[in-house]
Order: sequence, then C-alpha cells, then structure tokens
Amino acid sequence: MSKKQVIPVKKNEQIELIVSDLSHDGQGVGRFEGYTLFIPQALPGERIKAQVMQTGKKYGFAKMLEVLQPNEHRVKPDCPLFDQCGGCALQHLNYEEQLAQKRILVEDNLRRIGKIEHAVVHPTVGMEDPWRYRNKAQVPFGEEEGGLVAGFYAPRSHQIINMESCLIQHQKSDEIIELVKEVATSLCIRAYDEQTGTGLLRHVIVRVGFQTGEIMVVLIINDDKLPEKDKLVNQLINEVDGLKSIVLNINKRKTNVIMGERTKVIWGEPHIHDYIGNVKFAISARSFYQVNPVQTEVLYNQALAFANLSGTETVIDAYCGIGTISLFLAQKARQVYGVEIVPEAIADAKRNARLNAMDNVEFAVGEAEKIIPWWYAQGIVADVVVVDPPRKGCDQQLLDTLIKMKPQRIVYVSCNPGTLARDLRILEDGGYVTKEVQPVDMFPQTMHVECVALVELRV
Ligand code: SAH
Repeated sequence: MSKKQVIPVKKNEQIELIVSDLSHDGQGVGRFEGYTLFIPQALPGERIKAQVMQTGKKYGFAKMLEVLQPNEHRVKPDCPLFDQCGGCALQHLNYEEQLAQKRILVEDNLRRIGKIEHAVVHPTVGMEDPWRYRNKAQVPFGEEEGGLVAGFYAPRSHQIINMESCLIQHQKSDEIIELVKEVATSLCIRAYDEQTGTGLLRHVIVRVGFQTGEIMVVLIINDDKLPEKDKLVNQLINEVDGLKSIVLNINKRKTNVIMGERTKVIWGEPHIHDYIGNVKFAISARSFYQVNPVQTEVLYNQALAFANLSGTETVIDAYCGIGTISLFLAQKARQVYGVEIVPEAIADAKRNARLNAMDNVEFAVGEAEKIIPWWYAQGIVADVVVVDPPRKGCDQQLLDTLIKMKPQRIVYVSCNPGTLARDLRILEDGGYVTKEVQPVDMFPQTMHVECVALVELRV
C-alpha cells in the first residue's frame, strides 16, 4: 500500500511560493513542499504570497494575494473587469510572451503525451493587433435597479455583471449591445431570470462580417413573441450601419444552452456574408463560423500549404463544419469530400459551395469514423486527409481507417494540444511521422491555442 500523502497546507492558510508553470487554462502552477497548487493570475517564475482556498488529495487551489517578485513580462491588464470575468486568462502577460507560452504548451504536450521529440514546433503566429478580433459576441441579459444589464455571469453564480465594452470583441458588437440595453429598458422589456425561469430577453448575439461589414443581431427570448417588436426593430435599423439581419430565437427551456430550436427572421435577410481569403461564406444565426476571421485565414493557408496540392489530388476534409476548409482546399485539389455530423452545417456547406461556384466538392452528413470507412470500402482513397476534430480529438476508428487507407499526408488541425499529441502517437505507431507543427494564435489574451500539424507517411 502506498504511503498516505500528507497535505502540507490548510484551507485559508497564507503561504509563499514560487510559480513554475502555466496550466492549459492559463493558471499559475506552483508546488508547496511537493504539493501542487493552481493559482489564477500567477505567472511562471514569480514568487508570490497566496491564500489556500481549496485542498484535494492530489492538488489544491489558491488565491494570489501579492506578487513578491514579478515575471518580467507581467503587464497591467487593459480590461477593468479582468479580475471578475476570467474570460481573458492571460491579459496580465505581454503578447509576445503569450505566444511563447503557447508554443511551450504545444511542445510540452507533444513530448509528454505523444512522446514526440522530432517534430519541428514553429513559433506561434500571432496577430498584429491582438484586440477586438472576435466576430461574434454572445452576452447574457439580466436586470439591475434602473434597467437591463448585459455582460457575463459572475463566477459560480447566476448574477450578471454588466460590461460596457469587451476588448476582444468587435467595437460594433459593444455598441449594439449597449443600444439593445437602452432601447429594451425604455420599452420595459424584462430580462430572463435563470433561477425562476421568468422574464423574456435571455441573450443577444451580434455577428459581424469583418470583410463585408454586414451585421446580424439575434435576440434570444423566453416566449413566442417579442412585445414592441416593431419599435425595437426600427431603432436598430435607424442606428446600426451595416445591419442586414435581425433574428428572433425562441428558447423556453430551463437550460443553460443558449439557443432554442426555433429561429424567425424578423427583419432583413436570414444570412450575412463574409470572406476568408477569396472564399465567400453565408452565415446564419445557428451556423458555426470561426470567431477570429483574420487568424482563420492564416490557419487555413497553413493547412493548404501543408496539404501541398498540385491539382490532381483527392482530398478528404473530416469534421468539416460549414465546409470552410473544404472550399479552401477545393481551390487547389481535383476533388474534395467533406464530412460533418451536424445536418444544418452540411446544408450551409453545400450552399457555400454553390455560392462560390465550386463543383468539385461533395459533402456527407454523419460521423467521420463511420462515413470515411464507408467511402474507403467504395474505393475512395484520399491522397491527403485534413482532420479538424472538436476538443476530444479523433475517434480511434477514424485513425485506424487512415492508417489502412495510407494517404501521403495528413494535415491535423487541432484546438487541443493534448488530444493532438495522443492522436499523433497513434498515427506514428501506424506508420506516419509528424514533421512540423505550426501553432496559430486564434484567441489572443486567452490560453487557447490552435495548431496545424503536417503528418507524412513514413517511406
Ligand atoms: N473544420 C470546420 C469545423 C471544425 S469544428 C471549421 O474550421 O470551421 C469541429 C466540427 O466537428 C464541428 O462542426 C462538429 O459538429 C463536428 N463533429 C463532431 N464530432 C463529429 C464526428 N464524430 N464526425 C463528424 N463531425 C463531427
């Protein structure tokens, strides 16, 4: 039997410690007499004073009280709500160092989880201006004395903290949300109350096409009808340049899922448009669309460069969403097959292919791990496969099929370095070698990092 570990700290105790690393979600990690503590807002190399908040068998959490010796890259966060929001876990670190830390995280995952030492991990590609990059704002509404508020939930509560400006969202989103607060307050529209399930306005979503300037506003309400609809619509039309679409989404369920099933266009078009590179996309209220369009282009160009297409290839795009990567690849390939589990996304993908007059792309709805083996059984063999799975990574069955199919190159786009490393190990054991990994910063000020990896069949 192993010796029982004694936890060397008690709840509420104040301690001094040195921070050694950043966790995958941007918290400082330090050890106190061998016991691991996670400390939000602490940075590697810092000596800090902290108060223990919670202790578990293997690790605990502490709150930072004072930085005794700061990391040389520490900066004062620009957002006045930094302490309360938690959305931008790295705003207290200068941007260059954020990029460096993301690269370290990727290398560390590849080495630790994937046992991959040979791949070149390039420096993270950052943004020239790492602020105001999001094209989609999604804010919950609440009430305070004097009117409506909107912003974010206070940690572990149903209370909404009012936010007038979010420095990573498009300026237009801020302005529109402020306008909705003001107009809805004047029309006596009530906000939804999560606890009682009463009230009306739950969330407002604003989407902005960065290239086209087109704007969509989605009002999510807890009823079939919006009272004073025409007055609200008229105010928005009068005051918002570029407005192309106002959509009502009805969500009467007591759930924290933001959108309900029913969507009605109450003014304008059902879509707005945007471009990534030369490819045009129609975006509807419920479509998935990458939130950082500037870096998406960087990411897809990198995927295209790794795919190294000459125009004769058959390409599979697994987990294709609304076909963004598929259409990007179709510009350079003979034929592209895209597969995605959400039927609405495939409907969008097909429409986007028509919008760009691309007829060398075919889309299928289903699980990539079922459809790709089925395609393979029909004789479809890809020269290049691109995968862009959700955070949990690729299904084992999909990886097994790729190992049998033997495409020359696999381009792995990943939003989770941990599952990327796990899956690369499976591919390496199946005859592939990871050549290069390019981290791309899609989410400045946060610890999230996106990667594109080039994996080649071993000769
Ligand atoms: N490549 C797209 C979307 C990537 S997000 C883009 O860049 O825009 C990952 C996608 O995988 C989501 O659209 C999700 O619906 C889809 N997905 C999740 N599990 C899946 C599965 N088992 N088979 C196919 N698609 C899946």
